[in-house]
Amino acid sequence: MAWDFSTEPEFEQKLEWMREFVRERIMPLEVLDLDWRQYREAIKPLMVEVKEQGLWAAHLGPELGGQGYGQVKLGLMHEVLGASDLAPPVFGNAAPDSGNSELIAIAGDRDQWERWGAPLLDGRLYSAFSMTEQGTGSDPRQFTTHATRDGDDWILNGAKWLVGNASRSDFHIVMARTDTSEGADPYKTMSLFIVPTDAAGIEMRDLDLMHEAADEGLVHSHSEVHYRDVRVPAENMLGGEGEAFVLAQKRLGPGRIHHCMRWIGVCRRAFDMLCERAVSKSVHGSLLSDKQTIQNWIADSAAAIESARLLTLHAAWTMDQVGASNARSEIAMIKYYGAPIMHDVLDRALQIHGSLGFSGDMPIEQMLRWARAARLYDGPDEVHRVTVARRILKGYEPRELPTEHIPSRRVAAERLYPQFAGSAA
Ligand SMILES: Cc1cc2nc3c(=O)[nH]c(=O)nc-3n(C[C@H](O)[C@H](O)[C@H](O)COP(=O)(O)OP(=O)(O)OC[C@H]3O[C@@H](n4cnc5c(N)ncnc54)[C@H](O)[C@@H]3O)c2cc1C
Repeated sequence: MAWDFSTEPEFEQKLEWMREFVRERIMPLEVLDLDWRQYREAIKPLMVEVKEQGLWAAHLGPELGGQGYGQVKLGLMHEVLGASDLAPPVFGNAAPDSGNSELIAIAGDRDQWERWGAPLLDGRLYSAFSMTEQGTGSDPRQFTTHATRDGDDWILNGAKWLVGNASRSDFHIVMARTDTSEGADPYKTMSLFIVPTDAAGIEMRDLDLMHEAADEGLVHSHSEVHYRDVRVPAENMLGGEGEAFVLAQKRLGPGRIHHCMRWIGVCRRAFDMLCERAVSKSVHGSLLSDKQTIQNWIADSAAAIESARLLTLHAAWTMDQVGASNARSEIAMIKYYGAPIMHDVLDRALQIHGSLGFSGDMPIEQMLRWARAARLYDGPDEVHRVTVARRILKGYEPRELPTEHIPSRRVAAERLYPQFAGSAA
């Protein structure tokens, strides 16, 4: 009997340490008036403590300086870190750096690992993953950014959109078309390049987003990036020519589920606010917690969070068993299933606080605005639904009459049980 929902006691102790550390040491940073540079300074000593606890960069194997915990333990860790968006960088586990260090570990050569990968993993460098082009994120075959070979260099031209941390990073990993020949398989025409952010020809414009103005975010900025005749040496190609899609999938699969794991932490924090308010506030002669509507919100939220959590941990477990590329449906499913749950729990938490919840005196309105992005980043919900539905439908054959067609089944049943033939009304 292999089903087991328990957490090893030693790991539970680590989780307990993390809970307290996030609550007591990281969350206070949320309410100080820091800019992103001050935030990066403030977390340096915290990063040292995390490293001392052996909890740094848990997404990578020990041979690459990580903890090699696997996805299930990582899932439990991310639940804790997800409560505050300031926490993942303190644990060397924030997007896009975590995915990028994983990508360089998978695809990079030794020099690339030493120059870019290892310092990124160590938290000494910051990075961006520059893939989306405006209006084509759902269909990367339409990307037009391209790289042309010129002697020992590649020259990049094109524009990317909504690139996280582009302007605050040390390097970008850029997806660009290297094969423009007619009839080429679009999934084999793109390559990845490591491009230093200070390379000549890069122009960036930081964007105002729904949840924060361009200069407000402590962890992330998001930019439109133009690459104009940006020259990089050939050794900056990451992986082989034409391998960008395959490699990006390896990066995006784990990256996607890490977001979903963090959403459980967001849900828990919102749920705690919802329940605390319910038992604290009386209106019309009784506590909110005595009203059936509020009880329904709490019961429905608890069930929804638990279902998202189990689906997430099951996807994580599947990745541990068969690898990320064989767990694509599970990862896609939790992406579109978990995001609306996070949204709904936050929305109820806001509603129960009334106008206080709508104000900046509570964190809920900001969390809710940020939660909206979850249905877009790492691919919109619609695309993940298509992935899941297509894979499921592959298991079905078209039939003239439905398998469950009762008259046909009756004919077959009467052949199996002739003694009862003709007994149906
Ligand atoms: C907060 C945030 C951070 C991001 N960070 C990065 C980053 O660091 N690097 C990066 O490269 N990109 C990043 N992105 C971009 C993100 O990956 C894209 O927004 C996403 O892939 C969707 O692409 P798009 O915005 O171009 O939407 P489009 O491709 O224009 O799609 C628009 C809409 O069309 C609909 N649609 C698309 N396909 C289908 C379909 N098959 N069936 C039905 N409907 C469909 C969906 O409703 C979709 O929302 C980020 C986005 C956000 C919001």
